[in-house]
Amino acid sequence: MKRKLSLPAWIFIGMFAGILAGLCFLGNPGFTDEYIKPFGTIYINLLKFLVVPVVLFSITSGVISLKDLKRVGSVGVRTFVYYMCTTALAVVIGLILASAFKGMFPPLDAATTAALEYEAKESPGVMQVIVNIFPDNLLKPMVNTDMLPVIVISILFGAGILASGEKGKMVGNAVDALNDVIMKVLMMIIKITPFGVFCLMCNVVAVNGPKIVGTLALVIGVAYIGYILHVVVVYGLSVKCLSGMSPIKFFKGIAPAMITAFTTTSSNATLPVSIECCNNLGAEPEVSSFVLPLGATINMDGTAIYQAVATIFIASCYGVDLSLGDMAMVVLTATLASIGTAGVSGAGMIMLAMVLTTIGIPVEGIAIIAGVDKIFDMGRTALNITGDATCAIWISKQEQKKAAKKAAVAE
Ligand code: ASP
Repeated sequence: MKRKLSLPAWIFIGMFAGILAGLCFLGNPGFTDEYIKPFGTIYINLLKFLVVPVVLFSITSGVISLKDLKRVGSVGVRTFVYYMCTTALAVVIGLILASAFKGMFPPLDAATTAALEYEAKESPGVMQVIVNIFPDNLLKPMVNTDMLPVIVISILFGAGILASGEKGKMVGNAVDALNDVIMKVLMMIIKITPFGVFCLMCNVVAVNGPKIVGTLALVIGVAYIGYILHVVVVYGLSVKCLSGMSPIKFFKGIAPAMITAFTTTSSNATLPVSIECCNNLGAEPEVSSFVLPLGATINMDGTAIYQAVATIFIASCYGVDLSLGDMAMVVLTATLASIGTAGVSGAGMIMLAMVLTTIGIPVEGIAIIAGVDKIFDMGRTALNITGDATCAIWISKQEQKKAAKKAAVAE
């Protein structure tokens, strides 16, 4: 009897086939860049065009399905606190690891650092990040895929529907129906994930293969040790102790989303896959449709580890030793920077400028690692979405317990 392979199995196959094909094209990255990458780009485009409607309708319908505003507040606060704590832990892990390996990051000579050129895209200041969360226009954030204000709009819209009682019900039903339709469209696109993953992986290996040498390989290695430590220790413990789920079951269930994040390097684009995986793992759909889109935008543990490691590395290249005060500042700004980082490819590197500026390290230093940012980004995005999933599972467990208690009292 023939057994049909599952989608996650196909995604794995797509990734490995992509790596093998990429190795074959090591000497000729021009070919993959021109003929294979565009198909990966089509896949990402398809995911991206759905990001705004997914976030808008899933958060609004998540708020509506939580049924009362008090519950929205309580789930929202727990989610936010969880996200901030895990992100701060991530920065600390990154700082400790990078400090341990610092001796192996050689300071560059003055001529090299003077020749560095990195055109820093303007990274906003801390207060500006906070102000930018609140939209001054309904459509602008949607057109610019500016997710923080879109989230604020969705929450307010959902709260408005709840507050309107009977009258709001009709709009609520329409939002729910639209949410279902968008999810169906997403499922169609998710089916081509193995192919998209193949094309993207092939190109990354073909283009970056030779660059992964020497010191850069070491920094990348340190970041990846941090990612793995965070996954195993923080997420493993969270899933086991807070949610009472076997970490193996969790990681097996979330693997398709991790691979999608690894290859698309975009938390936003991975969102549909994450929602699907979490619901399959037993998360409450109304919780995952609220917690995951929020996390894809504000919770970036991988990005935080990367920023900590990159900051220490760049400081070492300039021969600067960071004091404890500097490190504390890095924890604060990297946590904030990760909130302000959009869930799109490469955004974490732009926000790194904010961290470097705060502690007075030349932003041009980003040029040293910019060439291999993609490789950092793959791991950090996979971590980012896994953190969101652990939160969705935890909050779901709490809500299920509450519901069971209520039912027991009612009996
Ligand atoms: N690519 C990351 C994400 O989408 C953000 C980053 O660049 O750190 O989660």
